Amino acid sequence: MTHEPITQSHCQERVLLVDDDTALLHALPLTITLRIPHIKVEITDSAIEALKRLEQMEYDAIITDIKMPGMDGLALLHAIKERSPETPTILITGHGEHDLAIQALRGGAYDFIQKPIDREYFLLALQRAIHTCRLRRQVREQQRALESYATSLEALVAERTKELQEANAAKDRFLSIASHELRTPLTSLKMMIQLLHRRIEQRQLSDNTAITVIERATRRMEVLVQDLLSTSLIELGQLQLHKQPHDMVALCNTVIEEFQMTASPPVTLETKMPTEPLIAVVDSIRISQVLLNLLTNARKYSHAAHPISIHVMRQGETCVIEVHDQGIGIEAEQLPYIFERFYRVQDTKDTVQTSSSQGLGLGLYITRQIVIQHGGHISVQSMPGQGSTFTVSIPLNGQEDPS
Ligand code: ADP
Repeated sequence: MTHEPITQSHCQERVLLVDDDTALLHALPLTITLRIPHIKVEITDSAIEALKRLEQMEYDAIITDIKMPGMDGLALLHAIKERSPETPTILITGHGEHDLAIQALRGGAYDFIQKPIDREYFLLALQRAIHTCRLRRQVREQQRALESYATSLEALVAERTKELQEANAAKDRFLSIASHELRTPLTSLKMMIQLLHRRIEQRQLSDNTAITVIERATRRMEVLVQDLLSTSLIELGQLQLHKQPHDMVALCNTVIEEFQMTASPPVTLETKMPTEPLIAVVDSIRISQVLLNLLTNARKYSHAAHPISIHVMRQGETCVIEVHDQGIGIEAEQLPYIFERFYRVQDTKDTVQTSSSQGLGLGLYITRQIVIQHGGHISVQSMPGQGSTFTVSIPLNGQEDPS
């Protein structure tokens, strides 16, 4: 027996007819295609062959004789239910085989047709079966889409929850660091004010050490508050740059001068500057903040006796600023994190300069954000115990602020 399908071009529905009755196997497809033109009917006289085809193809309905040699229609129905439960199966029963018909329905048959076949009834049953199959598949697709949507929603909720937990942990960490860092200068302010009170009472005002300490503590608190403000502006996307053309060499020299005047204990700076001006369109206040942060860190994390060197140079259309110290350096595994918000290398407290505190872990974060907003980048090279070099690159062809 050949298994040639009776085909129609552009057919959408596909049904499989299984019957060992050759006459019926050829007559029924004609009956079907005459009434349902776009249907593709495949035929086979064997249930085993039908199962093989079912493995490669999805059918919209299967019509099978109930009595066949070898595997019969009921066994085939059972196998179809297992492999392709959405495919409706119509069974053809002999005249008066009610018991078999009931068995078929109990076994999950969609319908049964009695021989001799009533053409109208058969075609209606087939159309209903095909329609049911389409609906079942639509439901399955929608169910899958819903399931995958639910899965993606679950993943999104988990991700957001994690982000919120991290943000909450960062906030807690920040509150603890901020309160701790602000408490130190506040305590010295309180102590110095009490001392001044006593001296005023005793009229001993020749020594101005207390004033110096107050100034330093106030300056420290000012820096902390400025860092907090800058971070909050960055986070809100509101860090506005007011860019104007500036000579980077002159700008760096001014910052170095200011830093040397305020550094306590005094610091030795070695500078190497180009002889020509390097004009870049920058926000001078923010770029000064960048350099001051790097110098403060270089000072904070190295011995007072070791000089800090600053090298400003032109590399193509870029102004490169290198700040090098011979301080404690940074472990390789910490390097990827030092530009993150609130990140502070642990256990540096004992190694930082006595007059400085470690800080909020915001300086390098702010520095990097400012550099990025100027279209530049910042990198670091460091060896524990030998020192660090921070390199900032700022493009010389930046855009002037239109405001
Ligand atoms: P902080 O206010 O704590 O100094 P920063 O963001 O400026 O915060 O720096 C982050 C961390 O990077 C610091 O805690 C410090 O451990 C490390 N670090 C920064 N600069 C240097 C440097 N020049 N030498 C060694 N460690 C540094």
